[in-house]
Amino acid sequence: MSAPIRSPEIKYTQLFINNEWVNSQSGRTFPTLNPCTGKEICQVQEADKADVDLAVKAARAAFRRGSPWRKLDASKRGQLMNKLARLMRDNITYIASLETLDNGKPFGEAYEDIIASAETIEYYAGWCDKIHGQTIPVDGSFFTFTRHEPVGVCGAIIPWNYPVLMLVWKVGPALACGNTLVLKPAEQTPLSALYMASLIKEAGFPPGVVNIVPGYGPTAGAAIAEHMDINKVAFTGSTEVGHLVMQAAGRTNLKRVSLELGGKSPFIIFEDCDLDQAATFAHAAIMTNHGQNCVAGSRTFVQESIYDEFVAKCKALAQKRAVGDPFDSSVQQGPQIDEEQLNKILGLIESGKKQGASLQCGGERHGDTGYFVKPTVFSDVTDDMRIAKEEIFGPVQSILKFKDADEVLQRANNTSYGLAAGVMTRDISKALMMSQNLEAGSVWVNCYDIVKPQTPFGGFKMSGQRRELGEYALQEYTEVKTVTINFPDKYT
Ligand code: NAD
Repeated sequence: MSAPIRSPEIKYTQLFINNEWVNSQSGRTFPTLNPCTGKEICQVQEADKADVDLAVKAARAAFRRGSPWRKLDASKRGQLMNKLARLMRDNITYIASLETLDNGKPFGEAYEDIIASAETIEYYAGWCDKIHGQTIPVDGSFFTFTRHEPVGVCGAIIPWNYPVLMLVWKVGPALACGNTLVLKPAEQTPLSALYMASLIKEAGFPPGVVNIVPGYGPTAGAAIAEHMDINKVAFTGSTEVGHLVMQAAGRTNLKRVSLELGGKSPFIIFEDCDLDQAATFAHAAIMTNHGQNCVAGSRTFVQESIYDEFVAKCKALAQKRAVGDPFDSSVQQGPQIDEEQLNKILGLIESGKKQGASLQCGGERHGDTGYFVKPTVFSDVTDDMRIAKEEIFGPVQSILKFKDADEVLQRANNTSYGLAAGVMTRDISKALMMSQNLEAGSVWVNCYDIVKPQTPFGGFKMSGQRRELGEYALQEYTEVKTVTINFPDKYT
């Protein structure tokens, strides 16, 4: 890993439509802020409905019958995607630096995000010419086969916590299946998405295949969710906005919807595990990316016999966690994304104190500039407390006590969320029983937050709809067409 670029040049601030850089129709711009200081990095063109309309027109034209994109052999699509991944790898230091500047995550983590993002594009590049239907032994004098066709124009609305990674989770499978896209990055972190647009153009994707329109949720985001000419929308973000996106699809053209939403994921530590390893994993499960992670292990359930010792270990780890300048290689935690999140987290920390949880460390803002929060550990947390129920999206570990497997299963599942869960135990039978009964889209045993391009990802219950990543994601970006041909000679 090379050294970061502390002040990366901001190369792109316009909308990317039809492979061109354009200003917004309204002429409006919006600021993107450096979360370390709260100061403006630059102004970015602000898309709203009119710009989304133009982007959808471009995407529709790119998808028309006989277009360069539609005529491209599937294997050639894969080659374009591999070229994009190579460009990402070639420019990794710059992209990771831009991500650290705009998002505040430590440079090393941003770097790993970009590697994971390139791997995701490479994984889907491999799928391009392996997406096919079936021939079906239909009754009667007919011959039937299925085609897995692209859905068409896809909308994507993504959050700020993993700006490039969330982009490729949408763009990768969408392009592999032959779709075109209109993507709105989060208003807090538009810069890396715009740079990715430049690489998409450089890789040689035809105009209109990918369009990137930074802007705000209720305007540009809603315009995507409501658009009558978008065939599918993929959303990652809050459960609250997930409801709105699904309602908008229902109200308009019944576009296909996939949602990756919030979580309150349990990480369950049994007494028979390796305690040091479990404490390290539980710490990382909640503190990684400053707690701004939809699968954050935000409820650490610990068996009573090891509870006190485990709390002490978590406290020691949190106290050692280095908070500060995310460009400094010794720093593990930078600022939260914005003032709104900072205040939300501090409010929830106050509720934990008031509702009787024991504050082990942290519990307040770090410094007085930017949006930093001290790594915080609460013990004696009970299920009724807000910090045990609500998604905090911050570096706040809530440690709860349990007696046995049956009890903890019931409590772990007692939430409207169902994104992920973790179990630490040396007992394989217990691990299997837990993984069978936990209501979550991902269960990690003796590890946590292992998400790979090959592994399907998504939530049960109100954590989402459908799956991203892996082969499963291809279903989200294809329609199945059944073709039946009259075949009178079938039985001759
Ligand atoms: P959000 O859901 O408001 O934003 C996510 C994306 O949705 C952004 O691109 C935003 O512009 C867009 N959006 C907002 N309102 C919209 C609307 N009406 N129609 C269409 N798109 C809209 O999330 P946030 O406000 O940035 O964060 C709030 C909380 O959401 C966080 O505290 C956290 O709990 C959760 N969150 C979850 C994830 C995740 O990965 N699951 C990511 C970010 C935030």
